[in-house]
Amino acid sequence: MRYIFGPINSRRFGLSLGIDLSPNEKSCNFDCLYCELKASKPTSFIKNPPKVEDIIDELKEALKKFKDIDVITVTANGEPTLYPHLLELIEKINEIKNGYKTLILSNGSTIYKKDIQKALLKFDIVKLSLDCATQKCFKKLDRPLKEISLENIIEGIKEFSKEFKGSLIVEILVVKGINDKEEEFKKLNEILQQIKVARVDIGTIDRPPAYRVEPIRFKRLLELSKIIKNIPISIAHRKKIDFKKDDFNEDEILNTLRHRPLTKDDIEAIFSKNSLKIFDKLLKEKKIIKKSVANIDFYTSSIDK
Ligand code: SF4
Repeated sequence: MRYIFGPINSRRFGLSLGIDLSPNEKSCNFDCLYCELKASKPTSFIKNPPKVEDIIDELKEALKKFKDIDVITVTANGEPTLYPHLLELIEKINEIKNGYKTLILSNGSTIYKKDIQKALLKFDIVKLSLDCATQKCFKKLDRPLKEISLENIIEGIKEFSKEFKGSLIVEILVVKGINDKEEEFKKLNEILQQIKVARVDIGTIDRPPAYRVEPIRFKRLLELSKIIKNIPISIAHRKKIDFKKDDFNEDEILNTLRHRPLTKDDIEAIFSKNSLKIFDKLLKEKKIIKKSVANIDFYTSSIDK
């Protein structure tokens, strides 16, 4: 298979069968400092893009073989919205997807374009990146093509979120010394409050990056995540274990979950053993309830105040 890969078990989206729209070389309009692919000059197109029929033929074969997947993920060795036949592709995928959800992992750079919005509206889950709230930070961290403006991206996300019926996920990747400031997160929170977003995924560098940049600690990610209000947040960090766990009483647990629904994984990383016992009791009493957002379970308080 040239274009289909996996299934891969992803913590954020479940078991995912991937489609790579740029299998020959990296094609991205950003050159992020943290990229897991090799550093390369940003570009606005995919050279020799695959034909829709060829991708669909492979997908049909893969779907016969892998029956237990959760999502079909459209991605690229770079940015998938640079693919020139995206609308036609997602329409064809929707005809054969057999009830599986469709997901696209985009850096968000083209979301202000009407034709891209039209294609993305046909997905079940759309993940867009938004690492920075200011153009200065954006240019330093994501290093986009000159003509890409953060202002257009933010307006595009707002506009798209009003029409989109599926789950919109915003991802923030935090790099030490660049977008790990409280000020940046306060501005990100202001923007996120104006978007109909189902979930925010916050993470840091996990694998060797393209440039010499460093991850931040879990404790700092957690502090920054608290700045974002009223939106389910999933924090991805490998070293949660090193973190000192806190004692929360019943009220504190309910209050925390009321402001910020958390995953079980994050709860286990943050709460002490004793707090976990209280959490289980509250869950049994239905004072805490479980909600699924784009294949991740979140726990939230069922009591308003
Ligand atoms: S948007 Fe993704 S693929 Fe493109 S440079 Fe950034 S991390 Fe790499």
